[in-house]
Amino acid sequence: MKLRTESPDQTRAVAAALGELLVRGDVVLLVGDLGAGKTAFVQGLASGLGVEEPVTSPTFTIVQEYEGRLPLVHVDVYRLDRVQDLYDLGLEEAGDRGVTVVEWGDLVEQAVPAAHLVVRIEPGAADTERVLEFDYHGSRWRGRQAAVEHALSERGGR
Ligand code: ADP
Ligand code: MG
Repeated sequence: MKLRTESPDQTRAVAAALGELLVRGDVVLLVGDLGAGKTAFVQGLASGLGVEEPVTSPTFTIVQEYEGRLPLVHVDVYRLDRVQDLYDLGLEEAGDRGVTVVEWGDLVEQAVPAAHLVVRIEPGAADTERVLEFDYHGSRWRGRQAAVEHALSERGGR
């Protein structure tokens, strides 16, 4: 499914709708260039998960954990040198406790569970427009995809 957003807040709203529906063990990979809106998406996702702490772009940390309805593990692998380093972070255990969201997720698709959601964020026609594409991998999403897409499209642009 593709959705268009017309502002950072609308991207956050779409992501919040997703955050409300996530369950323990879900993994979301965010794909898009610098400035695409990956961190903005994480901020919305976090609020949907009931995280009250502000979510920022980690400058030196690769993994940041937030307390919400479920723990949110926010990973930005931009500064990760080797995929092996990702395994060293022990993400699989973190993921078992809550929800994992990864910026630059295409770099680590081999290192995360086969069942995950890929959200690709691309520039739109205008400066503040983005196109969000959702790609579901694995049976984990099969029963939930329709409900998720319904909730997301209520908050996205046409
Ligand atoms: P990334 O994490 O992908 O590098 P950020 O989320 O940090 O990107 O930054 C996205 C930038 O794009 C912010 O400055 C934000 O205000 C801007 N922006 C403009 N329009 C949108 C939109 N529709 N959705 C998300 N961000 C947008
Ligand atoms: Mg970012």
